[in-house]
Amino acid sequence: MSAPKSQQYSIMIGLGLGAAAGIAAKAWASNSDGAKRLVESFSTYVAHPIGQVFLRLLFFVVVPLVFASLAAGVARLGNLSKLGRIGGRTLAFFALTSSCAAVIGIVGMNLVEPGVGFDSATRDELMADFSTDAASVKAASQAQRLPTPIARVNQVLDMFVPRNILGAISKMEMLPLIVFALLFGAALTVLPRDRRDGMALWLDSLADAMVVIVGFAMKLAPMAVFCLVFVVTSRFGWELLAKLSAYMAVVLIGYLIQVLGVYPVLLRWLSGRRPIEFFRKAMPIMVTAFSTSSSNATLPTSMRLTHTELGVRESVCGFVLPLGATMNMNGTALFEGAVVLFIAQIFGVELTIGQQILVVGLCVLTSIGAAGVPGGSLPLLMIVMAQVGVPPDGLALVLGVDRLLDMGRTVVNVLGDVVCATFIENSERKAEARQA
Ligand code: ASP
Repeated sequence: MSAPKSQQYSIMIGLGLGAAAGIAAKAWASNSDGAKRLVESFSTYVAHPIGQVFLRLLFFVVVPLVFASLAAGVARLGNLSKLGRIGGRTLAFFALTSSCAAVIGIVGMNLVEPGVGFDSATRDELMADFSTDAASVKAASQAQRLPTPIARVNQVLDMFVPRNILGAISKMEMLPLIVFALLFGAALTVLPRDRRDGMALWLDSLADAMVVIVGFAMKLAPMAVFCLVFVVTSRFGWELLAKLSAYMAVVLIGYLIQVLGVYPVLLRWLSGRRPIEFFRKAMPIMVTAFSTSSSNATLPTSMRLTHTELGVRESVCGFVLPLGATMNMNGTALFEGAVVLFIAQIFGVELTIGQQILVVGLCVLTSIGAAGVPGGSLPLLMIVMAQVGVPPDGLALVLGVDRLLDMGRTVVNVLGDVVCATFIENSERKAEARQA
């Protein structure tokens, strides 16, 4: 089921109009207190709920969709050795693209050094303005740091194999769900063929029904995307943008290098695809990622279009995309590397080459653990900062513009998964041609 072209255009129009209306509303609100209150009320009571209904409809389907498509994808691979081969390639691809992205973020910040000589009055002002937001991120970050080594080991175990799978799912923790779905699919492959096929059919129907629900949600999409983007842009001040413009420019150029430099090379070299055609077909996926700032919320759209528009078979989409939405966040790794360096520069913390290499590793690891929701990477980012002696509270400096950068990094995150799916499809086709 592919989204009609007219719907895709309406979503893009919603995006453009939402951004323009938000910026205009922000400018108008600065004229008087009455105008400011009106814009805030519209944003809070109209735009926010409409956007949230759309987002939540997408979140509704994520758990059943990830479970059904991943388990059916694995069951349909037929045997565990094939699972090992595809799984190994997928994880290697994730590691390669995430490390490359983190290096781009760090090198960019080293070359431009936007934090060196940052005005100290502006720094103190930003720290004061966003310290409350930073405190709540810090609380979430501290909840993840435990005092004893055994508690920390148990924490890592809980991330993948908790005692209670339903408890983990109810908190939308995707890694345990993925492990469970992979095990379930792998277990099906050793059952007698008729029973395996019966269950795979049932899982397919479950996944298809979720996709139908996404179809309902997509009817709301143009209006909802307008609202989501309006809420972000109407809150934005040009002053804040101007103060942090060099930092934002480095991060955004980093995203562009990953999307227009790294991905096209991989698409040509590993997937045998024409990049321009790929991006044209992937456009609705990019728009959804941009407007929702959530890899999880984009998953239903990317599952549908990677199959129907990009011709990747369902079992590969079902395996690579849910895994990628949780584990492969290239944009997040790039952003994390850049932020750590930027804040270090502002506070005059010198990071050695060794420490910067450690930052690359930590960015890759924490991007795996980050939740695919708006701002999902921020608590883990504070842990990376603390690890290399950069003050975690410094995150307050960039929180004001984070939602904008989050929109961009989610596009990079999701595209990385789709590029990986085309690579796996290509390598499977080659393997089948060799066998034939
Ligand atoms: N919003 C990002 C995503 O869902 C996660 C993050 O970097 O905050 O992919």
